[in-house]
Amino acid sequence: YGPICQNEALEPTLDLEVLIDHAAISRRIAEMARDIEADLNGEPVILVGILKGSIHFLSDLGRYLKIDAEIDFMQAKSYEGMASTGNVRILKDLDCDIANRNVILVEDIIDTGLTISHLLDHLRLRRPRTLRVASLLSKPESRKMKIEPDYLGFSIPNEFVVGYGLDFDERYRNLPYIAIYRESQD
Ligand code: 5GP
Repeated sequence: YGPICQNEALEPTLDLEVLIDHAAISRRIAEMARDIEADLNGEPVILVGILKGSIHFLSDLGRYLKIDAEIDFMQAKSYEGMASTGNVRILKDLDCDIANRNVILVEDIIDTGLTISHLLDHLRLRRPRTLRVASLLSKPESRKMKIEPDYLGFSIPNEFVVGYGLDFDERYRNLPYIAIYRESQD
């Protein structure tokens, strides 16, 4: 896809610098699937995608897993400006019952950790058999909650990234790579 994508037709002030290319993402997700299989010992699992950012990661992970996997979705919204209070609102809850089931929350990125901590607290009340977190990306420098994913794709620096499900104002989710989003100086 080329090292640099400059989407001048859409937004002349935008620069996207590729951070992780598609081949590297695919290789890493395949490895994560092997780790998950080993931990689950062949037992079935429910993959819970956190909308919308997890879409590509979730579908890749599902395809790589060689175990029985159901798919469900949740959607959460964290309030900007109130993020430090951990105020996260659930816009869409699960359709399925997770009591006594193996559950993996599938996230695009863990930044402060507030969203995932809130979702874990919410789901623990339903008594799943196991509850784990798989995140494609993590920005450990900006963590406010003491939480690390059980399965992590890549640790990245504290930069705003787009692509592979991650957006800026709903754009760039479809990019097949992770790119740093920077506004040009000129
Ligand atoms: P947290 O609650 O961990 O601070 O944030 C998690 C959510 O913030 C992610 O699911 C994602 O929606 C958003 N987010 C955090 N960092 C980034 C980033 O670098 N790029 C984009 N597009 N979204 C981010």
